[in-house]
Amino acid sequence: MSADDTASPTPPPPTPDAPPATAPAATPDLTPELAEALRRAAATPNLVVACDYDGTLAPFTDDPTRAHPAPGAIATLARLAELPRTTVALLSGRNRAALAEVSGATAPVVLVGSHGSEWEGGFDAPFDDDDNALLARLHTELGEIAQSTAGAHVESKPTAAVLHVRPVEDLAARERATAQAMAGPATLDGVFVTQGKNVVEIAVREASKGAAIERLVEQAGAEVAIFIGDDVTDERGFARLRPQDVGIKVGEGETAAGHRVADIPAVVRLLGTLADLRG
Ligand SMILES: [Mg+2]
Repeated sequence: MSADDTASPTPPPPTPDAPPATAPAATPDLTPELAEALRRAAATPNLVVACDYDGTLAPFTDDPTRAHPAPGAIATLARLAELPRTTVALLSGRNRAALAEVSGATAPVVLVGSHGSEWEGGFDAPFDDDDNALLARLHTELGEIAQSTAGAHVESKPTAAVLHVRPVEDLAARERATAQAMAGPATLDGVFVTQGKNVVEIAVREASKGAAIERLVEQAGAEVAIFIGDDVTDERGFARLRPQDVGIKVGEGETAAGHRVADIPAVVRLLGTLADLRG
């Protein structure tokens, strides 16, 4: 390289190995490693793409029934889902009916609710009297905590009671309510606790997004699965991925996922890039 080159203010010409102009537009929020992982996944014969909903495709709201998807999110998922040998699933902690309602997603996108335990055909294991009694007790105890915490409320799910403290403005009260739930009903025999962002969910059935991803992979015979999520509940999904799978964490925070993107719009762009690559 000559001294003239180093002093020149003009940018260098494209290198010979720059992508051809026909390649999908470069997406600046993908690391080279993630871009390569997506190319590899797009080329696999059978692919599963599983996506969390809240915080991954839809911004958080105080009223969960108004957590509408980000612009383009569901259309992009649908475009992917219509590609051959491509299974696309929404994998949410919400109950399945609420997930369908708020997301507007329809077949061929697969909807899996209640942290992976609720499928199109319903739940795997029906409830007995003990299960019903335990669920009622969880409602009562979490309800008492919510009643003494302005802004908190308890959501009823088919297999769980959920304390929501996001709308609680007093941060000390928010933490106190969470601590009370964790010290009280969360310690009952036979319950399964999932603590998310401003949420304590106490269930009478074990549910795991990891098991749900495995089921999707098995059904599809998928060589590669991609799983995208933002919350601590998604870590059980990331932890169960195989070496060839692609875990993508949305936003900050510790994670077992191998890759990360910054925010919800970046997820939508990533799904678009994947659909372009596979289409
Ligand atoms: Mg989420």
